[in-house]
Amino acid sequence: MVYDVAIIGGGITGSAIARELMRYRLRVILIEKECEIGAGTSKANSGIIHAGHHSRSGTLKGRLEWAGNQMWDELHADLDFGFRRGGELTVAMKPDQVADLHELKANGEAKGVTGLELWDKERTLKEEPNLSSDVVASLYAPTSGIINPYEACYSLIDNAVRNGLELSLENAVIGIEWQDDVIMLNTRKGRIATRYCVNAAGLFSDEIAAMAGAGNFTIRPRKGEEYLLDKRLMGIVRHTIFPLATAESKGILVIPTFDGTIMVGPTAQFVDSKYDRTTSAAGFNEVFDSVRTLVPGISPRDCIAQFAGLRAVLESEDFLIGPSSVRGFINVAGIQSPGLTAAPAIAKLIVEILADEGLQLEHKENFMAQNPKRVRFAALSRREQMRLVAANPSYGRIVCRCELVTEGEIVDAIRAGARTLDGVKFRTRAGMGRCQGGFCSARVMELLSRELNVPFTAITKRGGKSWIVTDREERG
Ligand SMILES: Cc1cc2nc3c(=O)[nH]c(=O)nc-3n(C[C@H](O)[C@H](O)[C@H](O)COP(=O)(O)OP(=O)(O)OC[C@H]3O[C@@H](n4cnc5c(N)ncnc54)[C@H](O)[C@@H]3O)c2cc1C
Repeated sequence: MVYDVAIIGGGITGSAIARELMRYRLRVILIEKECEIGAGTSKANSGIIHAGHHSRSGTLKGRLEWAGNQMWDELHADLDFGFRRGGELTVAMKPDQVADLHELKANGEAKGVTGLELWDKERTLKEEPNLSSDVVASLYAPTSGIINPYEACYSLIDNAVRNGLELSLENAVIGIEWQDDVIMLNTRKGRIATRYCVNAAGLFSDEIAAMAGAGNFTIRPRKGEEYLLDKRLMGIVRHTIFPLATAESKGILVIPTFDGTIMVGPTAQFVDSKYDRTTSAAGFNEVFDSVRTLVPGISPRDCIAQFAGLRAVLESEDFLIGPSSVRGFINVAGIQSPGLTAAPAIAKLIVEILADEGLQLEHKENFMAQNPKRVRFAALSRREQMRLVAANPSYGRIVCRCELVTEGEIVDAIRAGARTLDGVKFRTRAGMGRCQGGFCSARVMELLSRELNVPFTAITKRGGKSWIVTDREERG
């Protein structure tokens, strides 16, 4: 069996590419080393669909940021994930920064970004009364959106699988060879033969390219720490608030997430290890000191959870997308921010590149663009909730009290592919509230154990050896 295309990596980039390829009559496999999709950088980011004006127009990421931005509405309508265009404000806190807002506006307009408006102090504070009174002016960008990035990954993959994608999880690519014109991927679960290979392995794309002899570049991990705040602060800002950017990052932001929590971050610091996802006291202080100059009502005491993600950074600070010196082997590397925003545009570009490289594309007439709608109990009216519970009592049993997630939703998530506590959490929000799973984790584990027919001790937080309870005698 020889696949037409094998995609290495199931982050937002690989997931978007997989879904786009499934529009055609192709045999496609996606290989992901973790046991859940989107478990790398794609679940640990700020969740912003950038408005389109931040990245410079002369760069690849600048071009794909705006193109990708415009594709998310259709994807959202088809695939059912958390997404809303809430708009953003970039704020000038000193008079000499106002010129930078004008420059940002001109950069956006040159790229075709619509709706940008400069607001004076009065208008800014009218729209965002909790901003510091030191604010001088702001640039409003209505095209900015917020998204649940992990849900987007799951929805894209679920749809791709509905359309014939083969998914190989917990399966790392460990070597690459050639047999005539076929690429042989050596994986932990055996050999996979393919005519074309798309390297979308994020932080590890340099190592995959080196295995194939298809590129000599280095990815450096740049860490970003993010802090989630109690829902008490819901509504403290209506738009995502940006300070003015630096060369390395878009700055430390105040983000009203899709589910109503406020998130603050990220930091931007190069680290040595691609596995270092720790948060730090220094990062915590940097984030809260910075955001309190923008929104003084935010207190570090409101922090309920924290995480860090790693940007995959190339020396050029741009994306590297295209065919390599090796026939059939396409690199998609350096996908740092705004990679989430750009992912749908990257996917279209990859299809064009594959066609240029000789892949025959024949439209699939029975392509199913849409996913069935998921039950989100907390978002239903009382009448809809009662109707649902009458039809299926498992939607009447609340498992996560903070986020009002029911047993029925958790069972749906497991049947859709969740295998771990985090898989359930990111699909349903069970465990994402104030108590961070203190009350519901054991119940979720029972449901995983029951539905997957595995012992309680086999349940992990995020795969591998991240067991939650252990039987000492059994493990020695
Ligand atoms: C703190 C932070 C905030 C950010 N905020 C934003 C934002 O608000 N908006 C935005 O647009 N972008 C943002 N980004 C950038 C965005 O998150 C990334 O560009 C995007 O998630 C990259 O996706 P990816 O699929 O390329 O990589 P990943 O999500 O890392 O996926 C790569 C996958 O490849 C798998 N893999 C690796 N090696 C192998 C192997 N050998 N075999 C099989 N599988 C393998 C990994 O397990 C992983 O799942 C942010 C990034 C960070 C770190």
